Amino acid sequence: MTREVVTTERDAAIQQLRDVGLRVTAPRLEILHILTGGGHMDVETLAVAAREKLGALTSQAVYEMLRHFLETGLVTKFDRPGLPAVFEIAGTPHHHALCSLCGRVDNVTSAPLKKPGNDLSGWDVHGSEIVFKGICPDCSATARN
Ligand SMILES: [Zn+2]
Ligand SMILES: [Zn+2]
Repeated sequence: MTREVVTTERDAAIQQLRDVGLRVTAPRLEILHILTGGGHMDVETLAVAAREKLGALTSQAVYEMLRHFLETGLVTKFDRPGLPAVFEIAGTPHHHALCSLCGRVDNVTSAPLKKPGNDLSGWDVHGSEIVFKGICPDCSATARN
């Protein structure tokens, strides 16, 4: 049962890499697999998780892979001021909430912003994103104790 799910996901990942013209390699599949598991992860977290499976893998190698994934649209990147950026599998566009204490990033599902007419005349706008800033539930709970 579990095996079947993994195989299907692996096949999908192989297809994804081929679709964007990237060579299928074990490290690339592993990084995609970890990201598919969910959430927003920075380079170091991904490298540590991938090393459990692959053994030696430098953070630089992970960084390079993510750069290729970004360029080919497989992943998206979310910048956190003062902290390493986090990456996630590209999907439906969404907004984010960022915890200013621990850096946790959660997805916020809502409609994309419309380009405000007059304010941006002459601009070639590529996208928009709202970042909700605050304290996450875990940090709030810790602060109360
Ligand atoms: Zn937090
Ligand atoms: Zn996200």
